[in-house]
Formats: sequence, C-alpha cells, structure tokens
Amino acid sequence: MIKKIILETFQSLLLTLQGSKYACPFCNHSHNKFLPTGFSYNILKEKKIIGGGYRNNAICPFCKSSDRERLVYLFLKSNDLLKLKPKMKLLHIAPEINLKNIIEKKNIKYHSADLHNPLAKIKMDIQNIGFPKNHFDAIICNHVLEHIIDDKKAMSELYRVLKPKGWAILQVPYSPIMKHSFEDLSITNSEERAEIFGQSDHVRIYGLDYPTRLKSVGFSVKKKKIDINLIKKFALNPNEIIFFCKK
Ligand SMILES: [Zn+2]
Repeated sequence: MIKKIILETFQSLLLTLQGSKYACPFCNHSHNKFLPTGFSYNILKEKKIIGGGYRNNAICPFCKSSDRERLVYLFLKSNDLLKLKPKMKLLHIAPEINLKNIIEKKNIKYHSADLHNPLAKIKMDIQNIGFPKNHFDAIICNHVLEHIIDDKKAMSELYRVLKPKGWAILQVPYSPIMKHSFEDLSITNSEERAEIFGQSDHVRIYGLDYPTRLKSVGFSVKKKKIDINLIKKFALNPNEIIFFCKK
C-alpha cells in the first residue's frame, strides 16, 4: 500500500514536471522544471554564495544529474575536452555518476578516487595523492576542496600529479562579496559548521581570492563561462563559472 502511494506520488510529480523548457544532456529527458536542491542557511544568502545553497531548478527528475555536474559536462563538451586521446590518464575526484559513466566509456585510463564516495574505485585523501608527479593529463574535482582541512596541500598535490600542460577543473562554491576566504579550523561541530560555512561538512567559505590560492601552488587559472543558451536550455546556474586550471 505504502509502495503504491509512493509510486503514485512520484508519477504525479513527474507529470507536473513534464514539458520541454529544460533538457538534461545526460538522459536527454526534457522537463518544465527541475527539482530543487541545496541548503538554505542564512550565511549562504548573506554571502551570496555561488555554486552552493538552495537552488530551485537544479536536479534532473529522471537521472538526478545536478546543475554542477551538467555544467562540467557541457563545459568539457563545448570545449572539445571530451575528445580524449587513447592512453590519456584522467583523475576524477568524488565522481558524479553521470559524468563518470560517460568518461569511463572513453578509450582512456580513467581513475575515480574519493575517501567516502562508493562510486570511486580508489580510496584516497587528496591531501596525499598516491600517484607519481606528472602522471595525469586531466583532473576533475567538482566541489571537493571546501571540505578539505588543508586545501593548500590538496591543491599542491593536484598540481604535483598533473602533467605539464595538463588541465584541471577545480570547482568550489564561493562568495563574490568576500575578498578573502574564511576558515576557522577550531570549528569542528557539524551544526556550527552548517551555520558558519553553510554546510555541516564544509570547513571554509571561499572568497574572491580562490584563484589566487590555486595560483600560489603553481596553477594558471582562467575563469570560463559557457554559452548563455546552454545555461538556459540545461538549467544551469547562470552565475557559476568554471575554474579552468593548467600546469
Ligand atoms: Zn537527466
């Protein structure tokens, strides 16, 4: 009985979302509205966090892809970065399932890694990456560094394992009104972290100095936007930019 009610509720929800306003590049389904996601702690609104917090139209109702995952995929696709050469080595940290499924099928050496994510094949702390220097041609690390205590160490590890001329997409949520990133490692309580950093497992809020932090370990950083028509069609966050890094 309960199963039947849940199924009927889900079906009626899908019906209300039916339409062609937005499309999902992973499952190719279209909807008039995507599902909401994200937290609504005051700090997120107060600091106008981009790439985090509550988003009204973000999750594909069919395959559950998020706006952040679609952004990285569409950026890669529209910049020909998915035309990966055979034997290329790509490291995907905290792999998102739809992105993983697409990249994994390519004729390349794909490695997924994370400390907790069950989708990752390698259990790894990015503050201590178990690969030699100059190993990977490309790295995708989408919304991870805000969880890492020693993010400078993680950034320098990512830089170390990337080949010269290799690229990395290193996304984080950030505040466009804070000049400097804010962290206080003495705050370890989940509820306090949620109120102060906007999520119970975040350890800082990045500010406008985020690219400077990446540059300090050696990366060159370009802030890239994708085409406005793609943003509209695939229900992306119009304010989120790609931090495209190179060694
Ligand atoms: Zn989808």
